[in-house]
Amino acid sequence: MADFILVLDEGTTSTRAMLFDRDGTCHDSESRPLDQHYPRAGWVEHDAAQIWKRTLECGRTVVDRAGGADRIAAIGIANQRETVVFWSRRTGEPLAPAIVWQDRRSADLCRRLRDRGEEAGVQARTGLLLDPYFSGTKIAWALEHWPELKAAGDDLAIGTVESWLVWKLTGGEHLTDASNAARTLLMGLGTGQWDDGLVDLFGVPRAALPRITDNAGDFGTTDAFGGSIPITGLAGDQQAATIGQACLDRGTVKATYGTGAFVLANCGAVPPTSRHRLLSTVLWQLGGRRTYALEGSVFVAGSLMQWLRDSLKLIERADESEGLARSVEDNGGVYCVPALAGIGAPWWEAEARAALTGMSFSTTRAHVVRACLESMAHQTHDLQTAFAADGARWSCLRIDGGMVANDWMAQDLADMLDLEVERPGFAETTALGAAMLAGLGCGWFKDLSEAAAMRGAADRFKPAIDADDRDRRLAGWSAAVAAVVSAAAR
Ligand code: ADP
Repeated sequence: MADFILVLDEGTTSTRAMLFDRDGTCHDSESRPLDQHYPRAGWVEHDAAQIWKRTLECGRTVVDRAGGADRIAAIGIANQRETVVFWSRRTGEPLAPAIVWQDRRSADLCRRLRDRGEEAGVQARTGLLLDPYFSGTKIAWALEHWPELKAAGDDLAIGTVESWLVWKLTGGEHLTDASNAARTLLMGLGTGQWDDGLVDLFGVPRAALPRITDNAGDFGTTDAFGGSIPITGLAGDQQAATIGQACLDRGTVKATYGTGAFVLANCGAVPPTSRHRLLSTVLWQLGGRRTYALEGSVFVAGSLMQWLRDSLKLIERADESEGLARSVEDNGGVYCVPALAGIGAPWWEAEARAALTGMSFSTTRAHVVRACLESMAHQTHDLQTAFAADGARWSCLRIDGGMVANDWMAQDLADMLDLEVERPGFAETTALGAAMLAGLGCGWFKDLSEAAAMRGAADRFKPAIDADDRDRRLAGWSAAVAAVVSAAAR
């Protein structure tokens, strides 16, 4: 009896296989780390062959423990977005390293295109900005600098991570789902098809691109786990998390605080236009019809805790930050602007550098750690303002990701956003969203609303701060971030 959905959750630092039942209960999980390659400053690469190998190992382990492929109804994949893989159609082997979403090597190309006045047109067609973050600029760089890709001619296949895995799992299906395709800078947001003008702008051979599909459906079958299993759900990780948080109605919004932080608001059937440097993206496509989201991406979130731990050695473990934040009455006037890798939405200053401001002899380690944690709510507040200015006012924020295990931070978010914050008991919303999509694709559910029963109960945090204290905090943050942004612009 096929009781489970197998989810392949393809993160940046690890790959994981999980088994979900129809109620959304996770029965098993197995993960393996992925090697990060940093060949030069600002470059980040993965080995696509390793991604495949580790995926197989994790998948086989949980399928075997469940009693074999007959127990698996379908497979859902959620993946790190924007990372791009180049492989040979003939051999099915990678032709070059995978260029990871964090990689900045295409910064010069983006600058050149911006200087030529291309950004407004690109934004209008894709909902994105000319930033190295997005796959199209990485593909253009690779085609220019890696002659073996040009030489491959018709043998070259290009795709994001879910596309690569579907190819390997099925033995040659070349497709990508609309939520991933929407992050390439090559897809027309309104059409859901590759845009000829954009494909030409980035010099991408059209024949190397996959077919764009829905997020749930029949994407082929695999024998990789000891029996035939259909692949029926695919989504980029942030879109999967938004679905896993059951943000199915227009206006619902989630924020994931992992290595970085990503806020997505469901904007319904019409592609939103941001005038405040948010991204407009596909949330899902079902039956050929797309639902859209506005997105704000913060590059530094949990990685700030890692930096406090590994580089500054102010804490030994990330969860120590909670006790330290509680141990002082307030931030003591200290503010952290965590622009350790530039600053993302709504500022988008790649050259910005981090700052800790307002310190005196009375400043302690606890103040600094608290200021770092507070910067999560401050950055989210800036996004809340930008979303509201773009017509997407938040009425409740659903939070997830590794950082929100921190109760102090969850309450601080409610306080600073002046909003109810909801945290589901099961925090792996990315995997859950992929399971919901796969459950829909294999016929377990008739629609996403039915699939949303997989999301269980949630804790609620209500605003409890004095308005003057909130204003004082926001004024302190505004001054600190303005100094950082203006220093970068100089
Ligand atoms: P990702 O999916 O991006 O790998 P996760 O969602 O697993 O990230 O979150 C891990 C991040 O959360 C780490 O950067 C870690 O520093 C941070 N983190 C984990 N627990 C806590 C905590 N209790 N307080 C603050 N940060 C935390």
